[in-house]
Amino acid sequence: MSNIIQAHDLKFKPFIEADSIAETVKKMGHALKTEYADKNPLFICVLNGAFVFAADLLRACDFPCEIAFVRLASYQGSSSTGKVTTIFGLDVPLKGRHVVVVEDIVDSGLTLSHFLKELNTLHPASLKLAVLLIKPDALQVDIRPDFCGFEIPNEFVVGYGLDYDGQCRNLPAIFIKTDDQ
Ligand code: 5GP
Repeated sequence: MSNIIQAHDLKFKPFIEADSIAETVKKMGHALKTEYADKNPLFICVLNGAFVFAADLLRACDFPCEIAFVRLASYQGSSSTGKVTTIFGLDVPLKGRHVVVVEDIVDSGLTLSHFLKELNTLHPASLKLAVLLIKPDALQVDIRPDFCGFEIPNEFVVGYGLDYDGQCRNLPAIFIKTDDQ
């Protein structure tokens, strides 16, 4: 039986198994507990891609915590402001809160770096980053996640919340684009 997935015009092959993701997310939950057990952190899930990861990560955190959801839109601002990130849906005050941003994947890191800067202007007590996947070879800015699941090559992946043109978010594992299309 072939494990190749077809989505629109692209084919994907298995890359990270569901069990391996579950184990990594569980470990991340433990690491978060050592730091946040008595801090009632606010997790901020970046939609859409991080919804599956955030749901599992929250359930791996057996200590008091809260979650909020945002959507980001990035566009080029004026030449003085450079790239601008607009945040939609953030209706919880961050002042004095211990905030952990939950993101599915860091590619160039540009969106996240703008987002983190904007969040810092809201004066959280602390601000950290938890990501499931990072592509170190694609990074264009100096972003170092405080909690990171897997380093992956600079290839397109889907599944576990990540989509290709709307498809594949429901896959329980991560799949990577095949060379032979
Ligand atoms: P960045 O600003 O880091 O370049 O962009 C990050 C966003 O690009 C992620 O939140 C995700 O939505 C999208 N992205 C980057 N790499 C991939 C990938 O390999 N697969 C999918 N499905 N989305 C990706």
